[in-house]
Amino acid sequence: MTDAAVYPLTREQEAELAARAIDARQWSYSPYSHYPVGAALLTASGKIYDGANVENAAYPDSICAERVAAVKAVSEGEREFTAIAVVTQNDGMPCGSCRQFLSEFGLDAVVLIANLKGEIVKRTAVRALLPDSFGPEQLR
Ligand SMILES: [Zn+2]
Repeated sequence: MTDAAVYPLTREQEAELAARAIDARQWSYSPYSHYPVGAALLTASGKIYDGANVENAAYPDSICAERVAAVKAVSEGEREFTAIAVVTQNDGMPCGSCRQFLSEFGLDAVVLIANLKGEIVKRTAVRALLPDSFGPEQLR
């Protein structure tokens, strides 16, 4: 992750993703958890798809910001993720379901955790968050 030769993002791209995630967070529907989350996903095509968590009175039907962004991207034809920025009030990390979901489209995707000021507080990758993952290769 620290190898500049393979790290896919510029500092400007990181800042843009963090800003987009902060912006998307305003659309969170989180009346039950009161835990708004914003995400911004950069795909290999260069487009950014944002997302916010959307809760439901039937709690398990709620969906995380990361998966909202991912579904928006995939449903518009994207198949390869480069990076995702996630913003919460306290540097929350993607949940297990989101780690699995993101891995389908980019084990090497960068995961940025940003704070409400847009500062990157953690840089990691889906692969690091989901070691020994189950993926498409198991079903071939
Ligand atoms: Zn999640």
